[in-house]
Amino acid sequence: MAFKKVMVVGAGTMGHGIAQVCAQAGLDAVLIDVDRSFVDRAIERIRSGLEKRVEKGKMTKEEVKDIMSRISGGTEIEAVVSKDVDFVIEAVVEDVEVKKQIFARLDANFEPNVILATNTTACPITEIASAAKHSDRVIGMHFFNPPVVMKLVEIMPALQTSKETVEKTKELAEFLGKTPIAIKIETPAGIVSRILGALLNEAVVAYSEGVAEPQDIDTAMKLGANLPMGPLELIDMIGVDVHLAKMETLFRELGDPRYRPPYILKKMVRAGYLGRKSGRGFYTYEQ
Ligand code: NAD
Repeated sequence: MAFKKVMVVGAGTMGHGIAQVCAQAGLDAVLIDVDRSFVDRAIERIRSGLEKRVEKGKMTKEEVKDIMSRISGGTEIEAVVSKDVDFVIEAVVEDVEVKKQIFARLDANFEPNVILATNTTACPITEIASAAKHSDRVIGMHFFNPPVVMKLVEIMPALQTSKETVEKTKELAEFLGKTPIAIKIETPAGIVSRILGALLNEAVVAYSEGVAEPQDIDTAMKLGANLPMGPLELIDMIGVDVHLAKMETLFRELGDPRYRPPYILKKMVRAGYLGRKSGRGFYTYEQ
């Protein structure tokens, strides 16, 4: 295996999970965030997740100790740059300007053979890569939530990405026990979000036209299309605000009316009907 140590920048929902996946596969993982308390919280999240597995008899205490011994953290990329890091995965907030600043710093601090991947959902990878001098080593490596459970990794090149970078990224994803799929050319938000986005949008259009109640739209899609979850329940789970932001990006980038977010989504967000997390979305939930 060509990789030994992975730096994960951003220790939130995705970053802590990606670091855990790396450490479980036997790699060293170093987590970076802006504040030491965020790094500590992420490491604690990993530990408590693993301890739950011990309680269920799925892992031994020794295995947990071994995995945890491979995870470290810091607050400054520059302070923890080491010769051992051979792959960086960025998982900071979904803001292209923040990501570009980070890629410029990563590019300035790591040798050109170190791959710089972004876990972005919908930021343009070609734009992120433009912040790096050695832009051929920048690539999209999109894990799904939660990274420890979800098998798929979408690998998406920027216009500048080299074939070697694509191959090495696939190799790492496979080493981590994931199923990578290679997207040949950059498309906004990758394959899953693009196709799912059109489907979810159509469900909201049907709802906003008054075609049927949410539970009937969801039941129709579960029983008629064999989906494990109805589209409106799924939006409530993702977060109505997160879904709206994704549709706005897809519509802006592709200019295709299939992705035009129905006005009802904006009203729901303004009203604070954000789905499960706020107790109300297309459905109401007991907190
Ligand atoms: P999050 O808000 O949980 O975590 C982001 C972390 O980045 C925070 O801890 C924040 O402090 C940190 N951060 C911000 N600026 C930073 C900087 N300059 N340097 C270091 N750390 C910084 O976000 P998330 O849900 O983990 O999402 C991270 C990325 O992964 C986003 O690009 C998102 O689109 C993508 N993504 C998210 C999901 C999901 O379901 N949450 C799924 C796939 C991809």
